[in-house]
Amino acid sequence: MLLPADLPTPLTPVADPVLARAGVEVRLKRDDLLGPDVPGNKWRKLTPNLRAALDQGHTRLLTFGGAYSHHVHAVAAAAAALGLESTGVIRGDELAGAPRNWLLAAAERNGMRLEFVDRRTYRALRDGLGTAAVRRDIERRWGRAYVLPEGGSNALAARGTAGIAAELPGLGPRDLVCCPVGTGGTLAGIAAALPPGARAWGVAVLKGAEGYLEREVERLHREGWGRTFANWHISHTHHGGGYGRLPAALTEFADAFEARHGVPLERRYVAKALKCVYDTAPSLPPGTRVTVVVTGPPTTALRAGTVPVPSR
Ligand SMILES: *Cc1c(COP(=O)(O)O)cnc(C)c1O
Repeated sequence: MLLPADLPTPLTPVADPVLARAGVEVRLKRDDLLGPDVPGNKWRKLTPNLRAALDQGHTRLLTFGGAYSHHVHAVAAAAAALGLESTGVIRGDELAGAPRNWLLAAAERNGMRLEFVDRRTYRALRDGLGTAAVRRDIERRWGRAYVLPEGGSNALAARGTAGIAAELPGLGPRDLVCCPVGTGGTLAGIAAALPPGARAWGVAVLKGAEGYLEREVERLHREGWGRTFANWHISHTHHGGGYGRLPAALTEFADAFEARHGVPLERRYVAKALKCVYDTAPSLPPGTRVTVVVTGPPTTALRAGTVPVPSR
């Protein structure tokens, strides 16, 4: 194993009268416990890419993200753990001289070189990764590297998250497997690996991403599996106002869930997906079983170093 992980991750049942009244069974797939160097779905998505990078003889990883990207943070941690160099291309040249937030500071502690670029250049590079001209431009600017897209979702990443579904035995027509959707890589992998009858259910955490995210999932399916799938859908009702926005009702829900069930909830992604499941449960057919993928640990755990950041 490239980076150690505790697999399969546990399944935790959720006993709750609200769900019981709806006749819906809910359980958590605890990928937040997957650790240690790279948390949750970031481990699932990065591992196949790291293997490819090493197989191709690369000594450096390069990726893209905003200043609050957990993906960038994870790439830095993975590179450090494997003794690779890393470069993070960060959106916003105005941030170059500003104090680093904790995610960027942790990335730098892991040896990542941060390259701040203006928004227009960032978009051109990010959206042109499939073209030879942009690849050459990236190599000319920052040297030879294994390039991971923004958010880390490529066909190999989706292959990695297919492992989540493979760890859920006995799925059938009464099953929904639910996960939050940032870029769609996690959802794509789960959907592709489900047995007949079972369905994947994504909850968008971005506002206004209807259509865009569906096209991304289809693109990943075509690239990774050479076909599309009809066994998934995305709810666009629980983004809470946008990425990183945490309305009071969401925070109250998450606080109450944590107090009742003793499971710490990551708020930007996991809490939104779980709240969507609770709000939707009364309209699901009784007998439905929903497996909610806890795609990562709470930010507070990452930040406090409970998920260790290797030093070098
Ligand atoms: C990055 C992240 C996601 C988003 O996954 P995608 O594959 O980009 O859709 C979901 N949950 C957590 C906890 C994350 O850190």
